[in-house]
Amino acid sequence: MRLFPVFGDQLSHDLASLRQLDPGTGDAVVMMEVMEEATYVPHHPRKIALIFSAMRHFAAELEARGVAVCYVPLDAPENAGSFFAEVQRAAAELGAEEIITTWPGEYRVLADLRSWEADLGLPVHILEDDRFLCPHANFERWAEGRKQLRMEFFYRDMRRRTGLLMDGDQPVGEQWNFDADNRRKMPAAETPPAALSFEPDATTQAVLALVQERFAGHFGSLEGFDFPVTRAQALAGLADFIERRLPAFGDFQDAMRRPRGEAGDDTLYHSLLGTSLNLGLLGPMEVCAAAEAAFAAGKAPLNAVEGFIRQIIGWREFVRGIYWLTMPGYADRNTFNADRPLPDFFWTGETDMACVRHAVEQTRDRAYAHHIQRLMVTGNLALIAGLDPAAVNRWYLSVYADAFEWVQLPNTHGMVLHADGGYLGSKPYAASGKYIDRMSDYCKGCRFDVKDSTGPDACPLNALYWHFLMENEDRLAGNPRMGLVYRSLAKFSPERRAELRAKAAATLGEWGIAEDAPSAAGAVLADRQMEPSA
Ligand code: FAD
Ligand code: SF4
Repeated sequence: MRLFPVFGDQLSHDLASLRQLDPGTGDAVVMMEVMEEATYVPHHPRKIALIFSAMRHFAAELEARGVAVCYVPLDAPENAGSFFAEVQRAAAELGAEEIITTWPGEYRVLADLRSWEADLGLPVHILEDDRFLCPHANFERWAEGRKQLRMEFFYRDMRRRTGLLMDGDQPVGEQWNFDADNRRKMPAAETPPAALSFEPDATTQAVLALVQERFAGHFGSLEGFDFPVTRAQALAGLADFIERRLPAFGDFQDAMRRPRGEAGDDTLYHSLLGTSLNLGLLGPMEVCAAAEAAFAAGKAPLNAVEGFIRQIIGWREFVRGIYWLTMPGYADRNTFNADRPLPDFFWTGETDMACVRHAVEQTRDRAYAHHIQRLMVTGNLALIAGLDPAAVNRWYLSVYADAFEWVQLPNTHGMVLHADGGYLGSKPYAASGKYIDRMSDYCKGCRFDVKDSTGPDACPLNALYWHFLMENEDRLAGNPRMGLVYRSLAKFSPERRAELRAKAAATLGEWGIAEDAPSAAGAVLADRQMEPSA
């Protein structure tokens, strides 16, 4: 008898381990909702509900196909709370002689799996997760000998390997990258269509009630839960994106907008496919093929389709490669020695900064913020305020429904915080309020003045930006991509520098994070969020 553990982000019928399963021979799948996984960081309740609901639907689909499934709900009296304990119990009850599973999404889980063979006294096979397009060995070969890894070169290899948007060995449109066309601010008259909404069925409703009862103390709301939880729903979400949002995805990829009470405000032209891709309800190649087909049919322009495909076969595969290449050490790097705790508004949204308030409130309400909010609003603030990478990583891993460490960590630690010293990206994306003003209408509705840096109503991001550059001048001034900003800084008088430092210090003081010690309220909140409510 062979036992096949399937984890919550492995909900693909063509999963490597499930391809080995033979329903006629007594093989069985075990799927587990365990407290250890739901609480090792205080995950957003919407994320927990999404994963449990999608797991329950997937288990039902397997059973309908004649597969024996041992499903352990969170509230089963016998649930011992960890993957290992549940696999051990299932293996003993079913008389398993062998365990077959697929490479998990987090190093922490892989380390656990690697100890099972000795602890269970059974052979444990961990198969490569070939739902990703770039196998570990290929990435290692590509990275070998390179001091810094650059996504653009990896992406070109991936285009050649997949044949997506290729004309022989040349890129369609004679350019690999159309990013320069993808930086439009959104005009006021533009009204992005709302993404498809999926009404919770009885299975999802039962999960929502369970999550409400057990995780009410975690940051985030369950109200209006509408994530796709089955492959059929995920496919409907994909079709909706391709038809209604992909055509403008490129133009407004970097845009942000303050909420105006319209349904598409929070999502703009983004795909919302992240959760379905990361759970395995959709595969990367089918998603890219759908976008390429829209281009071939003249329904979406090249800048949109190339921009979208680059996110999937470029960034998504690239960050995964980096994660597995560098873990476990990657998360410990802290290039700027940043050590300030998160200001309380990361958990409450209570701030007068309109851009940050919207990003946090939306995150609380939907467990979603689009890429530019993550990168240039909360992420940029975390970078220029010198927030502790461990605390920032923990926040990002907790609050987004699509957050799994293989993708969250390189994005946060590398792309946003540059804590890896430039291994992933050539320069930090540090920005003042000017960037947000250029790419959004947030500043019009903000109590702060984006054009001022040191006055009482000055945008707090401006002084923090210059402060960050001054604090890290030794490390960054020699970076050729930072030359322009450091030439501007060189023109500042000592008095101007002192004013900016004083303003930044005052802001950090107001946020309760000028010192290294966590603010009392922040510590209490963080502790409370670790506790399941029942
Ligand atoms: P779209 O904007 O429509 O993009 C399409 C798809 O491309 C996404 O669904 C995703 O699969 C892929 N993609 C886009 N950008 C990236 C990227 N930088 N890295 C990897 N894949 C990408 N993505 C996650 O899936 N999980 C995370 O935990 C996560 N954490 C992030 C943290 C930070 C600080 C930043 C800056 C980015 C993070 N991202 C993460 C990447 C990106 O922001 C999300 O994938 C995207 O916002 C999800 O929304 P969407 O599906 O509407 O994406
Ligand atoms: Fe954000 Fe500053 Fe603009 Fe306010 S003024 S919305 S804080 S960038």
